[in-house]
Amino acid sequence: MSSTLTDPSVYPISADTVRELSRPLFGHVIDGEVVPSADGATMPVVDPATERQVAVAAAGSAADAERAARSARAAFDDGRWRFLAPLERERRLRRLSSLLAERADVFTELDVIDSGLLRWYESFIVQFAVDGIDYYAGWPTKLEGTIPSVPSDLVVYQHREPIGVIGLITPWNGPTSVLAFVAAVLAAGNSVVLKPAEQTPMSAVLMAELALEAGIPPGVFNVLQGPGESAGAALVTSPYVDAVSFTGSVATGSAIQAAAAARVKRVGLELGGKSALIVFPDADLEAAAAAAMMGVWGASGQVCTAGSRVLVHRDVREELVSRIVEGSRDLRIGSGFDPGSQLGPLVSAQQLERVRRYVGYGLEDGAELVLGGDRHGDVGYFHQPTVFTSVRNDMRIAQEEIFGPVMSVLEFGSEEEAYTIANDTDYGLAAGVWTNDLGRAHRAGRALRAGTVWVNTYQMVYPTVAYGGVKLSGHGRNLGAASLDDLTQVKSVWMKVG
Ligand code: NDP
Repeated sequence: MSSTLTDPSVYPISADTVRELSRPLFGHVIDGEVVPSADGATMPVVDPATERQVAVAAAGSAADAERAARSARAAFDDGRWRFLAPLERERRLRRLSSLLAERADVFTELDVIDSGLLRWYESFIVQFAVDGIDYYAGWPTKLEGTIPSVPSDLVVYQHREPIGVIGLITPWNGPTSVLAFVAAVLAAGNSVVLKPAEQTPMSAVLMAELALEAGIPPGVFNVLQGPGESAGAALVTSPYVDAVSFTGSVATGSAIQAAAAARVKRVGLELGGKSALIVFPDADLEAAAAAAMMGVWGASGQVCTAGSRVLVHRDVREELVSRIVEGSRDLRIGSGFDPGSQLGPLVSAQQLERVRRYVGYGLEDGAELVLGGDRHGDVGYFHQPTVFTSVRNDMRIAQEEIFGPVMSVLEFGSEEEAYTIANDTDYGLAAGVWTNDLGRAHRAGRALRAGTVWVNTYQMVYPTVAYGGVKLSGHGRNLGAASLDDLTQVKSVWMKVG
């Protein structure tokens, strides 16, 4: 074990987390066992705040995808989970949420090291997972069918069946949050193979172990470690996998949808966005400025709903921008473990490079840089909070997802114009509106083409509420009862009775 991991000034983490980090390998979890790759390949696990290697993970291949998918298939086909009594499945899911709550610190700390997110933010992510599991734990007894009207010599009942094996492919931002989605998959009676991002492989192993401890049978929840282009791609095309749920970039999501089409698989896609946060002149500007800052500095902008386009009415533009710049100028940039840090690192050198490239595009395209614009420090993948004004909506920084701490401020003159600019994007994940005019709030809710519209709040999530996008932001819904529609299918059983 690296001596820095036991140095509390670098890693103020619990003894339990230190013990987890001393594992020789964060492997795949197949049939209830943590295993290396079939060919023994590994990849380093790097802390983005220090650029230090902290652990080693298995690097999967098509052979590992085959093993994981076959295991999940066998678990589904023999019914070891889906045919358990619904109340028993609920009990075990509740146990999973209790175990996660008990071990929240370990999950939080591993994810901070893996992803670079701030500790308080990651604690919120872990609590979100606990809440999500609690919510879905109540569903197995409530998935009911229907009895349609048919001629009197017949009886038909329709019931909701699980789909089978779900391949769940996830990104690096908030690794443990995926347990809420795993819970939805399991509540519907499916089996799952989770492929986490190669940047954040650690907590996935503990998630599968926790599920075993909670009584979810081996093989029902397997973990396949990256990389995406080999292991992930093979999972998508595996004949043992019935459906794929993916969160990540448009390019990868669209390739996955095309690859899944060969076997006519159901695909759910959550593909990020370029969300508009619209500030009308009657808004509470202090609250709007705070939301705009949190909307794009939170997780260093690596959130699919980042409010990276701030649309402000020209009458209040100067005041809003000045509040944002003043409030962001002295943000403390540093490790997620430093309680004083307000902005953590980006997840990887590639992501830092991407953000720097987009800052260059902003300057090239003629936007005005009013804050930041550069890397922060020499060690760790930190980037300054960056604000561009005089942004036109056809600029690359207004149209493309950057996934970093870069805010583009655009101006509008009328309500109509605000909605036109907000909707003039290929994306449609979310939008925020700041106004005290009730009629306008309702009009905005109707006018904005996005899966979620927040009014006088931003980035609220709750497990009962559906979440997902339109247009290039994807289709299908995570969270809420709506996600269970995507995770089940209706079977009709006909009987001749007369
Ligand atoms: P990707 O969309 O490529 O990665 C997301 C997940 O897909 C990861 O688990 C990845 O695995 C996996 N993956 C990659 N290629 C394939 C494939 N061919 N088949 C199956 N799975 C695959 O995003 P990146 O990590 O490359 O990030 C690039 C950009 O995408 C970001 O800068 C950001 O703009 C956007 N993005 C948006 C997210 C969002 O939530 N809105 C989340 C992540 C990225 P692995 O990491 O192991 O390669």
